[in-house]
Amino acid sequence: MFYAVVTQFNKIKIILNNIYEFHWKNAVVINGNKNIDILQADFEKNSIILLLKNDINIKDECFILYNNTTVKAIYGQLFNTFEFNRRYYTDEALGCFYSQNSTLFKVWSPAASSINLLLYKSGDPSIDERPASFPMSEKNGVWSLKIDNNLNGFFYTYEVTVYGKKNEAVDPYAKALGINGHRAAIIDFNSANPNNFEKDISPKLENLTDAIIYETSIRDISMHKDSGVQNKGKFLGLAEENTKSSKGLSTCLSHILELGVTHVQLMPIYDFSYVSTDERNPVKYNWGYDPQNYNCPEGSYSTNPYNPITRILELKTLVQTMHKHGLCINMDVVYNHVFNLENENLEKIFPGYYFRFYENGTPSNGSGCSNDTASERLMMRKFIVDSVYYWAKEYHIDGFRFDLMGIHDITTMNVVREKLNSLNRPIMLYGEGWNLNTMLPEELKANMKNSIKMPHIGHFNDIFRNSIRGNVFIKEDKGFVSGKEGLEEIIKNCIVGCTDYFNKGNSLFQTPDQSINYVSAHDNNTLWDKLEFSNPDADKEELKAMHKLSNAIVLTSQGIAFLHSGAEFCRTKYGVEDSVKSGDAVNCMDWDRKSDFLDVMEYYKGLIKLRREHSAFRMNNVDMIRKHLEFLSNTPKNVIAFILKNYANNDTWKDILVIYNGNKKKVKVSIPEGYWNIVADKYKAGVEILRTFNGNYFEVDDICINVLYR
Ligand code: CA
Repeated sequence: MFYAVVTQFNKIKIILNNIYEFHWKNAVVINGNKNIDILQADFEKNSIILLLKNDINIKDECFILYNNTTVKAIYGQLFNTFEFNRRYYTDEALGCFYSQNSTLFKVWSPAASSINLLLYKSGDPSIDERPASFPMSEKNGVWSLKIDNNLNGFFYTYEVTVYGKKNEAVDPYAKALGINGHRAAIIDFNSANPNNFEKDISPKLENLTDAIIYETSIRDISMHKDSGVQNKGKFLGLAEENTKSSKGLSTCLSHILELGVTHVQLMPIYDFSYVSTDERNPVKYNWGYDPQNYNCPEGSYSTNPYNPITRILELKTLVQTMHKHGLCINMDVVYNHVFNLENENLEKIFPGYYFRFYENGTPSNGSGCSNDTASERLMMRKFIVDSVYYWAKEYHIDGFRFDLMGIHDITTMNVVREKLNSLNRPIMLYGEGWNLNTMLPEELKANMKNSIKMPHIGHFNDIFRNSIRGNVFIKEDKGFVSGKEGLEEIIKNCIVGCTDYFNKGNSLFQTPDQSINYVSAHDNNTLWDKLEFSNPDADKEELKAMHKLSNAIVLTSQGIAFLHSGAEFCRTKYGVEDSVKSGDAVNCMDWDRKSDFLDVMEYYKGLIKLRREHSAFRMNNVDMIRKHLEFLSNTPKNVIAFILKNYANNDTWKDILVIYNGNKKKVKVSIPEGYWNIVADKYKAGVEILRTFNGNYFEVDDICINVLYR
């Protein structure tokens, strides 16, 4: 057995264990209905390079026939070559371009042998309808067609003939959709804007480190029976103002505003798979990390998923409402994999181009979803960049959280960063920079280890998370807040945003805006559940203390603060670790619980206020941190104390003293002598003075933060 990989238009690499067993003169290269002669063969370590007399035509598949075995020669590597890009790469705008007089359609597929535009009256495939079919014409891989008519209200798909198969695919650049995303819609975007949307402006953000991100989902935030919201589980639900639970406590948007965060990060809001959630009757629960159409909102979150304008209008209404209240809105984007490779529109239009494959032809699986996209290929990179830019420009989205960012390549992330910068407002860009086993050289992967090559792109800081609350993969593992010892140095490093504060030259990050500081997110156990699992003997009050200290560290450290929604009232998912399909009962924000943990809510509110009003916690470069942050020495075990000194980052307070006590007992800490104002202790946090202290030997309660200033 051997594998065959096309490396150039006229070169095929044959891979096998013993290359001397392969007699290349007996091999036949078949490309469509033609044979291509082999001119010569070069022997390398584990491979033989066949040089062909003529170029391979990529409109046909290519096979090697050898000793009665036929092996497909995989095109993947060819798509990375300069010559391929010279012939076929285009920076032209793709998609459907509507005007009242005509509509232009453009789709890219150098591999297709023909593409027809199929025009439908309905967006619903369950209605029997024979579409009108129009052949498109090709130039250098771009297929186009202009129809001189007003097509407003029609739906369309592409019928692509490629490698002898006919596929019906939705335009990957579709910006409007019919029910369940099966057909793209042609609409007049002027009719899809709420009133005054053109005047909508994002709240000001001076530095990325000023952001306090709050992660939630459109469905979870309002589904609870006592959310007080009319449009439960919909975009409009989160846009409802002044909502209250039956106990009179604020819910949903009002609750977020009460809490005081700056950014709401929404779990997937692009169109996700109809298999996960049927838009016709969205009873089946799914987080939505299985993209189907990348450039259009999810239908189940709209009040009428059949009308393509509704979901667009309603998401924009949400954005506008949030902006009006001073909240920014970030979206979770999942370009690293798709729901299902075979049924994927990109794959149906140009098989093999948009995904990574191993040399044996099976799909690369660093994402755990058996189809890693290939961001390093120029047209996939363009697709990602175009898509992100579109959301920022059309929907006024303020930030992007890249799911499994480590699957992507560094250049793509930097190009996205640059493109977003061109909009001249600070747009957040961050993601999961995990080191993943995908078919990409280590030095090109957009993961934490390569953060130096990706300025101002943030990474979820799992060192921060694991050292404070305990390792997420070991249920019983404790962290600093639950009494695990010896973590002081790691946590000190986290407090400075894992930048090179200590001048060791090997820091994880270069700037604090690269560190997304967090202790819980939608993945893994909630903070409350984790603390319960790892501290079976702790009572409720002790767990609450650990919970408060965890996010107190997040909210007083340098970097970008990130909170999982509901943490402010000790959210539980009843021990369910991966609740992707667990339904509303497990996932929804339980507005009853808010009243049970009102003291925790008040505490979180106070810490957020402290961070927002005091720029010392939000320094934006390592030099400033070196100059203004000083750790106290001679602190007891499991205690960390530092001073943000000399009006750090133009703070109004001269010196701010922060002490974390991870011990289950009171400690005394020697502090600089003086009159100190205490603004946070075990029970209260904020900017108001709780009491004052004069002296240099300060007592701190068990499991808590204290913040003092002078
Ligand atoms: Ca959908």
